[in-house]
Amino acid sequence: MKVLFDETTIQKRVAELAHDIEACYEGRPFTLLVILKGAFVFAADLFRRIRSPLVRVEFLRIASYRGTVSSGTVILPPPEELARFAARDVLIVEDIVDTGLTLSALVDALRGTGVSSVRVCSFLEKTEIHQGRVKIDFLGFSVPNHFIVGYGLDCDEKHRNLPYLALYEET
Ligand code: 5GP
Repeated sequence: MKVLFDETTIQKRVAELAHDIEACYEGRPFTLLVILKGAFVFAADLFRRIRSPLVRVEFLRIASYRGTVSSGTVILPPPEELARFAARDVLIVEDIVDTGLTLSALVDALRGTGVSSVRVCSFLEKTEIHQGRVKIDFLGFSVPNHFIVGYGLDCDEKHRNLPYLALYEET
């Protein structure tokens, strides 16, 4: 598989994102809302780089992909599960924004629960496809329209453990 971003490049970018995020919240409490499973590796690195004692972390399971093809349906948690974010400053942490469907559905649902604010940090974005449908406040890298694996991103649960990002090739 072709390496897109190596470990050193990724870690440098994650440190920059953590710095920008801290500056944005200016010492106020905020909650990283990590979208499972794909964002957990990125989020773990990001979380450890944020020095604010007021940062918290929560997790949500959302999936719209099967293999390398989007199922087209976003399955969100029930409103009761989202209610715990009411009145909080929430920073959604996503692995990759492709069509933006997953993210826009989640942002709308969170707004409906009365969060204080909702921002988005996505490690990757397929700019060509997404075309700005959802505002990404903190972005790691733009990537080509190709299926990506590694650094938490899988193909049928494989390759999540690669420490780098790669363009997926069937073997
Ligand atoms: P969207 O709703 O933006 O089309 O899809 C977002 C979700 O689809 C991501 O959170 C991720 O789980 C999955 N996804 C989209 N593109 C890729 C990709 O290139 N590689 C992997 N592994 N997952 C992807």
